[in-house]
Amino acid sequence: MKLLNTNASNTKIMKTQKGTEYEIASLSLMPDGILCPSQVIAECKTPCLVSSGRGQMHSVARARQSKSDLWHNDQAQFLAILKKEMAAFIKRCEKRGKLAAFRLNTISDIPWEKYGIPQAFPTALLYDYTKLAARLNRTPENYKLMFSYSAAPAYQNQVKAALKIDAPMTVVFRGGMPQTFLGKVVIDGDKSDLENLYSKNMIVGLKLKGGKAIQSSTSPFIVDNPETACPAISSNTCSEQDLATAGRAYAIAAE
Ligand code: SF4
Repeated sequence: MKLLNTNASNTKIMKTQKGTEYEIASLSLMPDGILCPSQVIAECKTPCLVSSGRGQMHSVARARQSKSDLWHNDQAQFLAILKKEMAAFIKRCEKRGKLAAFRLNTISDIPWEKYGIPQAFPTALLYDYTKLAARLNRTPENYKLMFSYSAAPAYQNQVKAALKIDAPMTVVFRGGMPQTFLGKVVIDGDKSDLENLYSKNMIVGLKLKGGKAIQSSTSPFIVDNPETACPAISSNTCSEQDLATAGRAYAIAAE
Protein backbone atom coordinates (compact mmCIF):
# COMPACT_ATOMS: atom_id res chain seq x y z
CA MET A 1 0.00 0.00 0.00
CA LYS A 2 1.28 3.48 -0.89
CA LEU A 3 0.52 6.07 1.77
CA LEU A 4 1.85 9.37 0.45
CA ASN A 5 0.61 11.47 -2.41
CA THR A 6 3.84 12.78 -3.96
CA ASN A 7 2.29 14.40 -7.05
CA ALA A 8 0.82 17.51 -5.39
CA SER A 9 -2.58 16.69 -6.91
CA ASN A 10 -4.33 18.39 -3.98
CA THR A 11 -5.13 21.96 -5.14
CA LYS A 12 -4.00 23.67 -1.94
CA ILE A 13 -0.73 21.76 -1.91
CA MET A 14 -0.11 22.54 -5.56
CA LYS A 15 -0.71 26.26 -4.91
CA THR A 16 1.44 26.19 -1.77
CA GLN A 17 4.51 24.66 -3.40
CA LYS A 18 4.27 26.63 -6.66
CA GLY A 19 7.27 28.92 -7.11
CA THR A 20 8.93 27.83 -3.86
CA GLU A 21 12.01 25.77 -3.09
CA TYR A 22 9.74 23.04 -1.66
CA GLU A 23 8.05 19.93 -2.99
CA ILE A 24 5.25 18.74 -0.73
CA ALA A 25 4.04 15.19 -0.12
CA SER A 26 0.76 14.65 1.69
CA LEU A 27 -1.14 11.93 3.49
CA SER A 28 -4.95 11.72 3.36
CA LEU A 29 -6.75 9.32 5.69
CA MET A 30 -10.48 8.87 6.31
CA PRO A 31 -11.23 11.00 9.39
CA ASP A 32 -12.89 9.37 12.41
CA GLY A 33 -13.13 9.90 16.15
CA ILE A 34 -9.72 8.33 16.81
CA LEU A 35 -7.83 10.15 14.06
CA CYS A 36 -9.59 13.41 14.96
CA PRO A 37 -10.22 13.50 18.73
CA SER A 38 -11.76 17.02 18.58
CA GLN A 39 -14.26 16.31 15.82
CA VAL A 40 -17.20 16.03 18.23
CA ILE A 41 -16.52 19.11 20.34
CA ALA A 42 -15.60 21.16 17.24
CA GLU A 43 -18.68 19.84 15.37
CA CYS A 44 -16.61 19.45 12.20
CA LYS A 45 -17.29 15.77 11.56
CA THR A 46 -20.16 16.07 9.07
CA PRO A 47 -18.72 18.72 6.70
CA CYS A 48 -15.38 16.93 6.79
CA LEU A 49 -16.87 13.57 5.86
CA VAL A 50 -18.76 15.21 3.01
CA SER A 51 -15.55 16.66 1.59
CA SER A 52 -13.52 13.49 2.23
CA GLY A 53 -15.95 11.56 0.04
CA ARG A 54 -17.09 8.92 2.51
CA GLY A 55 -20.69 9.15 1.31
CA GLN A 56 -19.77 8.11 -2.21
CA MET A 57 -17.10 5.51 -1.32
CA HIS A 58 -15.44 6.03 -4.69
CA SER A 59 -11.87 4.85 -5.22
CA VAL A 60 -10.27 7.86 -3.48
CA ALA A 61 -12.46 7.41 -0.42
CA ARG A 62 -11.81 3.67 -0.41
CA ALA A 63 -8.04 4.22 -0.52
CA ARG A 64 -8.31 6.68 2.37
CA GLN A 65 -10.34 4.18 4.35
CA SER A 66 -7.78 1.39 3.72
CA LYS A 67 -4.98 3.61 5.01
CA SER A 68 -7.01 4.48 8.12
CA ASP A 69 -7.72 0.78 8.66
CA LEU A 70 -3.99 0.02 8.49
CA TRP A 71 -3.31 2.74 11.07
CA HIS A 72 -5.93 1.26 13.40
CA ASN A 73 -4.92 -2.38 12.88
CA ASP A 74 -1.13 -2.30 12.52
CA GLN A 75 0.42 0.99 13.57
CA ALA A 76 3.98 -0.42 13.48
CA GLN A 77 3.61 -1.42 9.84
CA PHE A 78 1.97 1.89 8.97
CA LEU A 79 4.84 3.84 10.54
CA ALA A 80 7.46 1.66 8.82
CA ILE A 81 5.86 2.27 5.38
CA LEU A 82 5.47 5.98 6.11
CA LYS A 83 9.12 6.40 7.10
CA LYS A 84 10.29 4.52 4.03
CA GLU A 85 8.17 6.67 1.72
CA MET A 86 9.26 9.88 3.44
CA ALA A 87 12.93 8.95 3.10
CA ALA A 88 12.43 8.17 -0.61
CA PHE A 89 10.62 11.48 -1.16
CA ILE A 90 13.42 13.42 0.55
CA LYS A 91 15.96 11.70 -1.73
CA ARG A 92 13.87 12.55 -4.80
CA CYS A 93 13.70 16.19 -3.70
CA GLU A 94 17.46 16.32 -3.16
CA LYS A 95 18.03 15.01 -6.69
CA ARG A 96 15.76 17.75 -8.05
CA GLY A 97 17.50 20.44 -6.00
CA LYS A 98 14.35 20.95 -3.88
CA LEU A 99 13.55 20.87 -0.16
CA ALA A 100 11.10 18.28 1.12
CA ALA A 101 7.95 19.23 3.02
CA PHE A 102 5.15 17.01 4.30
CA ARG A 103 1.52 17.58 5.24
CA LEU A 104 0.59 14.32 6.96
CA ASN A 105 -2.74 15.40 8.49
CA THR A 106 -4.53 16.53 5.35
CA ILE A 107 -7.78 15.23 6.86
CA SER A 108 -6.76 13.84 10.24
CA ASP A 109 -5.21 15.13 13.48
CA ILE A 110 -2.58 12.57 14.50
CA PRO A 111 0.14 13.89 16.84
CA TRP A 112 3.05 12.75 14.64
CA GLU A 113 5.49 14.28 17.12
CA LYS A 114 4.51 11.52 19.58
CA TYR A 115 5.53 8.89 17.03
CA GLY A 116 8.94 10.45 16.33
CA ILE A 117 8.12 11.31 12.72
CA PRO A 118 9.36 14.93 12.54
CA GLN A 119 12.28 13.96 14.76
CA ALA A 120 13.30 11.21 12.29
CA PHE A 121 13.55 13.72 9.41
CA PRO A 122 15.11 16.88 10.84
CA THR A 123 16.01 18.33 7.43
CA ALA A 124 12.41 18.17 6.20
CA LEU A 125 9.62 20.64 6.99
CA LEU A 126 6.35 19.22 8.29
CA TYR A 127 3.20 21.32 8.66
CA ASP A 128 -0.43 20.67 9.51
CA TYR A 129 -3.69 22.12 10.75
CA THR A 130 -4.81 20.94 14.19
CA LYS A 131 -7.90 21.16 16.38
CA LEU A 132 -5.93 20.12 19.47
CA ALA A 133 -4.62 23.23 21.24
CA ALA A 134 -2.48 21.04 23.50
CA ARG A 135 -0.28 20.21 20.49
CA LEU A 136 0.60 23.86 19.84
CA ASN A 137 4.13 24.98 20.70
CA ARG A 138 5.03 21.40 21.64
CA THR A 139 6.29 20.12 18.31
CA PRO A 140 9.91 20.00 17.13
CA GLU A 141 11.23 23.08 15.31
CA ASN A 142 10.71 21.46 11.88
CA TYR A 143 7.01 20.69 12.53
CA LYS A 144 4.74 23.76 12.32
CA LEU A 145 1.05 23.78 13.22
CA MET A 146 -1.88 26.09 12.51
CA PHE A 147 -4.90 26.02 14.81
CA SER A 148 -8.24 25.39 13.10
CA TYR A 149 -11.16 27.44 14.46
CA SER A 150 -14.75 26.38 15.11
CA ALA A 151 -17.48 28.41 16.84
CA ALA A 152 -18.85 25.28 18.54
CA PRO A 153 -19.52 26.15 22.22
CA ALA A 154 -17.76 23.05 23.59
CA TYR A 155 -14.62 23.95 21.63
CA GLN A 156 -14.15 27.47 23.00
CA ASN A 157 -11.58 26.49 25.63
CA GLN A 158 -9.38 25.21 22.80
CA VAL A 159 -9.88 28.48 20.89
CA LYS A 160 -9.00 30.55 23.95
CA ALA A 161 -5.84 28.50 24.55
CA ALA A 162 -4.75 28.99 20.93
CA LEU A 163 -5.46 32.74 21.06
CA LYS A 164 -3.47 33.07 24.27
CA ILE A 165 -0.29 31.86 22.60
CA ASP A 166 -1.08 33.64 19.30
CA ALA A 167 -0.89 30.47 17.23
CA PRO A 168 -1.62 30.91 13.51
CA MET A 169 -5.41 30.47 13.40
CA THR A 170 -7.37 29.40 10.33
CA VAL A 171 -11.09 30.14 9.93
CA VAL A 172 -13.33 28.83 7.15
CA PHE A 173 -15.67 31.62 5.95
CA ARG A 174 -18.82 31.38 3.86
CA GLY A 175 -19.96 34.45 1.91
CA GLY A 176 -16.53 36.02 1.48
CA MET A 177 -13.97 37.00 4.05
CA PRO A 178 -14.52 39.77 6.59
CA GLN A 179 -11.83 42.37 7.19
CA THR A 180 -11.52 41.39 10.84
CA PHE A 181 -12.55 38.48 13.02
CA LEU A 182 -11.96 37.92 16.75
CA GLY A 183 -10.55 41.46 16.73
CA LYS A 184 -7.75 40.52 14.32
CA VAL A 185 -7.10 41.35 10.68
CA VAL A 186 -8.12 38.54 8.30
CA ILE A 187 -5.64 37.60 5.57
CA ASP A 188 -6.31 35.45 2.50
CA GLY A 189 -5.06 32.03 3.54
CA ASP A 190 -5.94 30.31 0.28
CA LYS A 191 -2.69 31.29 -1.41
CA SER A 192 0.01 29.47 0.53
CA ASP A 193 0.09 27.39 3.69
CA LEU A 194 3.85 27.90 3.90
CA GLU A 195 3.20 31.63 4.36
CA ASN A 196 0.25 30.99 6.70
CA LEU A 197 2.53 29.14 9.11
CA TYR A 198 4.17 32.40 10.12
CA SER A 199 1.00 34.50 10.56
CA LYS A 200 1.10 36.20 13.92
CA ASN A 201 -1.68 38.29 15.44
CA MET A 202 -3.97 37.75 12.45
CA ILE A 203 -6.58 35.32 11.21
CA VAL A 204 -5.87 33.08 8.25
CA GLY A 205 -9.16 33.15 6.30
CA LEU A 206 -10.09 30.23 4.06
CA LYS A 207 -12.98 30.38 1.61
CA LEU A 208 -15.52 27.58 1.95
CA LYS A 209 -15.19 25.31 -1.06
CA GLY A 210 -17.22 22.37 -2.27
CA GLY A 211 -20.66 21.47 -3.56
CA LYS A 212 -24.19 22.04 -2.34
CA ALA A 213 -24.01 19.71 0.65
CA ILE A 214 -21.09 21.51 2.24
CA GLN A 215 -22.28 24.99 1.22
CA SER A 216 -25.53 24.44 3.12
CA SER A 217 -23.86 22.90 6.18
CA THR A 218 -24.90 24.34 9.53
CA SER A 219 -21.71 23.23 11.27
CA PRO A 220 -20.17 26.00 13.42
CA PHE A 221 -16.84 25.01 11.85
CA ILE A 222 -18.05 27.16 8.93
CA VAL A 223 -18.40 30.82 9.86
CA ASP A 224 -20.79 33.04 7.92
CA ASN A 225 -19.01 36.26 7.02
CA PRO A 226 -20.52 38.65 9.57
CA GLU A 227 -20.00 41.58 7.21
CA THR A 228 -22.19 40.13 4.45
CA ALA A 229 -24.61 38.44 6.84
CA CYS A 230 -25.34 41.96 8.16
CA PRO A 231 -24.24 44.72 5.75
CA ALA A 232 -24.71 47.36 8.44
CA ILE A 233 -21.53 46.08 10.09
CA SER A 234 -19.30 47.41 7.33
CA SER A 235 -21.08 50.78 7.39
CA ASN A 236 -20.81 50.88 11.17
CA THR A 237 -24.46 51.77 11.66
CA CYS A 238 -25.34 49.21 14.31
CA SER A 239 -24.26 48.93 17.90
CA GLU A 240 -21.95 46.36 19.47
CA GLN A 241 -24.94 44.98 21.32
CA ASP A 242 -26.88 44.42 18.08
CA LEU A 243 -23.89 42.71 16.57
CA ALA A 244 -23.28 40.49 19.56
CA THR A 245 -26.83 39.19 19.44
CA ALA A 246 -27.07 39.00 15.64
CA GLY A 247 -25.39 35.66 15.11
CA ARG A 248 -23.55 32.85 16.82
CA ALA A 249 -20.26 33.39 15.03
CA TYR A 250 -20.22 37.08 15.82
CA ALA A 251 -21.20 36.45 19.43
CA ILE A 252 -18.13 34.28 19.81
CA ALA A 253 -16.04 36.87 18.01
CA ALA A 254 -17.20 39.58 20.37
CA GLU A 255 -15.95 37.71 23.47
S1 SF4 B 1 -12.07 19.19 10.17
FE1 SF4 B 1 -10.10 18.37 10.88
S2 SF4 B 1 -10.49 17.61 12.98
FE2 SF4 B 1 -12.47 17.90 11.96
S3 SF4 B 1 -12.95 15.86 11.17
FE3 SF4 B 1 -11.94 17.04 9.53
S4 SF4 B 1 -9.76 16.55 9.66
FE4 SF4 B 1 -10.74 15.90 11.55
